[in-house]
Amino acid sequence: MTQRGIAILGSTGSIGTATLNVVARHPDKFRVVALTAFANATLLRQQVQQTRPAYVGMVNLNDDSDSSWATGPESLVAAATLPDVDVVVNAIVGAAGLDATLAALHAGKRVALANKESLVMGGDFVMRACTEGGGEIVPVDSEHSAILQCIGSRPMSEVRRLILTASGGPFRDWSAERIANATVADALNHPTWSMGRKITIDSATLANKALEVIEAHYLFGLPYDCIDVVVHPQSIIHSFVEFVDGSVLAQVGFPNMELPILYALTHPDRVVDSGARRFDPAATSLTFEPVDGDRFPALATGIRAGLQSGCAPTVFNAANEAAVCLFLDGSIAFGDIHRAVRSALRQLAVLPSATLADLTAADAAARTHVQDFPVRKTRGE
Ligand code: NAD
Ligand code: MG
Repeated sequence: MTQRGIAILGSTGSIGTATLNVVARHPDKFRVVALTAFANATLLRQQVQQTRPAYVGMVNLNDDSDSSWATGPESLVAAATLPDVDVVVNAIVGAAGLDATLAALHAGKRVALANKESLVMGGDFVMRACTEGGGEIVPVDSEHSAILQCIGSRPMSEVRRLILTASGGPFRDWSAERIANATVADALNHPTWSMGRKITIDSATLANKALEVIEAHYLFGLPYDCIDVVVHPQSIIHSFVEFVDGSVLAQVGFPNMELPILYALTHPDRVVDSGARRFDPAATSLTFEPVDGDRFPALATGIRAGLQSGCAPTVFNAANEAAVCLFLDGSIAFGDIHRAVRSALRQLAVLPSATLADLTAADAAARTHVQDFPVRKTRGE
């Protein structure tokens, strides 16, 4: 493999720092060309000292930042399209990652996509940018990486069904009443994965799995009724692919994002790496159970938004982001996250979606709608 230039967008986050670990183990294969972060200047500076990238961007400059760094959301697009960049690791959280995904694909880059919100907010536009620009999306999300690895070089006409696994999150065996009033600390206490705050809350509501079903729909081109979800509390099987002859393949490994990150950088090749804990089947028990839609309504709500298409997935994603923010800052209860999202969808899912500007407007409308949710709730609306 010739050495690849890497841009890491969101380098200070959970996936960003894991990517830097992977890259540091393979200096012959990867060279960091660009790093971007939102506001953590201290960590970004350390990363810059270690990797010496040609380009550094920080969206929100502050007193601790370096005057040589680029700034604003434009810096994400600039980093993603530098000529020396072969692979853009999009590890930004939320819809803020969309423009960089589109720009990288238009510029013909490989996008190692952790930022699933890009695909949920603008799936049709992202897939079109991929075709038109000659870029490529390789998923970082462990479930989609598993699916890609199981499909290998077989054509999609041989795939009958995808089964995404879900850990079930911290509330898997909690009652509905207890879940409704779970605290922030309860919701951030994920049983198997250590991740950023937003995705950890999404894993507790199961909205994350809805985002992933929509992500799988776009990445693999299968209709929603060919994508199922099963709860697998150990997070060791990362997903299944059922083929047309009835054979089912799964990808297996202890939960650690460094493996799917490395695979997204090297796909379809595999390279020698010491990052993954060795698998021992004799020391592993694997169990599965159906999702309880009554206690975790976000999954069905999100899939319905996906099926509805148009701007519904955009509204689902933006409303969810805004509601998770409100929950994290203590403004709403855990059970209100889904109520706020459902309310936004009821009102806004029919907004126009013909252009990217339409989707941006729907995203903004959904955020405003959710922002007002606590006030409407107090009024009993
Ligand atoms: P995180 O919160 O730990 O990190 C987010 C990164 O994005 C940070 O570097 C932050 O500086 C940057 N960022 C935040 N807001 C930004 C903005 N408005 N503009 C530009 N940059 C911004 O999140 P994470 O857990 O690393 O997740 C990142 C993405 O990867 C999410 O889409 C998440 O769903 C996905 N993902 C994460 C994991 C995981 O294990 N953490 C697994 C699968 C998928
Ligand atoms: Mg995942």
